[in-house]
Amino acid sequence: MAYGLNHYKLDKPLRDALKYFLDRKPDLTGLGEYAGRTLYEVAYRVDLQSQPRHIMWDVRGNRVDVSWLDPMERLVVSELLETYGVNQYPFNGGSWHEHYAGINLIGDPGISCILTITIQTAYALHKYGSGDIRRYYRNLAGLEKPLMLGATWFTEIQGGSDLGANTTVAERRGDKWVLNGYKYFSSGAGIADIALTTAHPKGGRPGAKGLALFAVQRFRGDGELNFYVRRLKDKSGTVAVPTGEVEFIDTEAYLIGDAEKGIYYTLEDLMVSRLANSAGAVGISRKAYLEAFGYAAFREAFGKRIIEHPLVKRDLLEMEVLTEESLVMTHKAVDLFERASGDTPPYTSRYHYARLMTHIAKNITAANAARVSMLAMELFGGIGFLSEYMIERWHREALITPIWEGTSNIQALDMLEAIYKKSAHEPMLEDMEELARSAYDRDTALSALRKMQDTLSGLARMTPMQAEFNAKYILEDLGHASSVILLEAMAAHLGDDYYHHIARLIHDYVLPRKPMDHPGDDTLERIITLDGNLEY
Ligand SMILES: Cc1cc2nc3c(=O)[nH]c(=O)nc-3n(C[C@H](O)[C@H](O)[C@H](O)COP(=O)(O)OP(=O)(O)OC[C@H]3O[C@@H](n4cnc5c(N)ncnc54)[C@H](O)[C@@H]3O)c2cc1C
Repeated sequence: MAYGLNHYKLDKPLRDALKYFLDRKPDLTGLGEYAGRTLYEVAYRVDLQSQPRHIMWDVRGNRVDVSWLDPMERLVVSELLETYGVNQYPFNGGSWHEHYAGINLIGDPGISCILTITIQTAYALHKYGSGDIRRYYRNLAGLEKPLMLGATWFTEIQGGSDLGANTTVAERRGDKWVLNGYKYFSSGAGIADIALTTAHPKGGRPGAKGLALFAVQRFRGDGELNFYVRRLKDKSGTVAVPTGEVEFIDTEAYLIGDAEKGIYYTLEDLMVSRLANSAGAVGISRKAYLEAFGYAAFREAFGKRIIEHPLVKRDLLEMEVLTEESLVMTHKAVDLFERASGDTPPYTSRYHYARLMTHIAKNITAANAARVSMLAMELFGGIGFLSEYMIERWHREALITPIWEGTSNIQALDMLEAIYKKSAHEPMLEDMEELARSAYDRDTALSALRKMQDTLSGLARMTPMQAEFNAKYILEDLGHASSVILLEAMAAHLGDDYYHHIARLIHDYVLPRKPMDHPGDDTLERIITLDGNLEY
């Protein structure tokens, strides 16, 4: 139902958010048209009929490890990079807001992942790279030909969340670094020209603090393959990006920045992709909503269009409210990241606040995308379950957003670290207080601020175990409360009570919750058990 429409022209809230945060009106109409037609067609075709394939050998028997992409997908990726310049903005005087608005409009997490891992590589090379490798940030940003693709390979079989447990080793040989190890989830395998990756330098510290960040090129200086792709994974979504297993065997590598600061650079680079995950989740929510709204407007049941039934209206209302919440939270986090992106380790409080808001945004937007796309699928009735229409795909795609780039639990644990060790909640409270003062409805905004203060003082009183037990729910509460304040501030700034109504609904119906007291180990063991409940 959303096919063939201009997704930017349709999306007044996105244009409003950009106006609010940027104080100007970027023109993404061309990308909006492209997103609603060509991208829709290609993403659908790749998902159902034309998945990437791993080509290990060429006709001469040489190992090549290429991921074949549908030619239309290749074209789309290069047009997004070159014609629409989605990755160019932050490097050519534009804003990260415009980049992430582009990721939102693309929506498809497979295609936008290719752009995201590419801009992450450009970001790290530009900011922390040195020597020969640094100049390639321009090719990765789409500013210079030949266009290049990047990748970020951190996860190993024993460590996705627990990166410090990983075993890839870096060794200095003469003036070069070489890596040996095996990366278990490697998106962009077989298409990336340069990848960022983590490894422990031999003889260094174990754990996350001992990780260094490296860049590896697809080919060595002598023209041979620099790493190998073992296989591509079969996935239930994100099909457009090939995700494989990559093996480093004496792989030549460039050290990025200081070897001792690798984990900080990695976490900073993950902010770039967590924000992309948030923006993409908004795009998925919006497209799922558009599909469901279009369908509900013509499908009839019990003698009237289903949109006229109160329960359907309520579903659509919930979908709209959650989508606007996700949008404003994403661009708030982007705004903070933009202001802090000049910071370097050990960073300032501005950076820690940006990181905290990124954890909040990543978590809330992912949960909202899963919920909105599920409601949308249900509104299509039985047709919603058929793979020949778009809607089931949006739900499948939504389900990756709470998992990759750090699961929701990991966002919650990182939030605790940002609060306990960096006091990142202090600048957040100051900022929210100031925003609440200029709100459209000050009472609502101040009430949300009180909720935020209560949540944080409740956290301060918890034992470490209680805090960890509730961390994801605290993360959600902080997200809902700050979205109320932001929406009220946006309503005042734009003179539009639409955002006030959304804020009010979140304030009244989504926000009121309380943390759960840990029920005690005996009760937990009684409930979370296989004994007596299931045959095992
Ligand atoms: C399609 C796809 C593409 C991917 N592409 C890449 C890529 O290009 N590069 C890359 O580096 N990675 C990539 N990943 C990996 C992804 O980032 C990880 O899968 C993810 O971060 C989770 O790590 P894990 O799979 O090791 O899960 P685990 O760490 O084993 O976690 C399992 C579960 O335990 C929970 N958990 C773990 N520790 C804790 C804790 N302390 N407290 C509470 N809960 C906990 C997690 O939340 C999760 O629910 C990709 C994954 C997928 C599915």
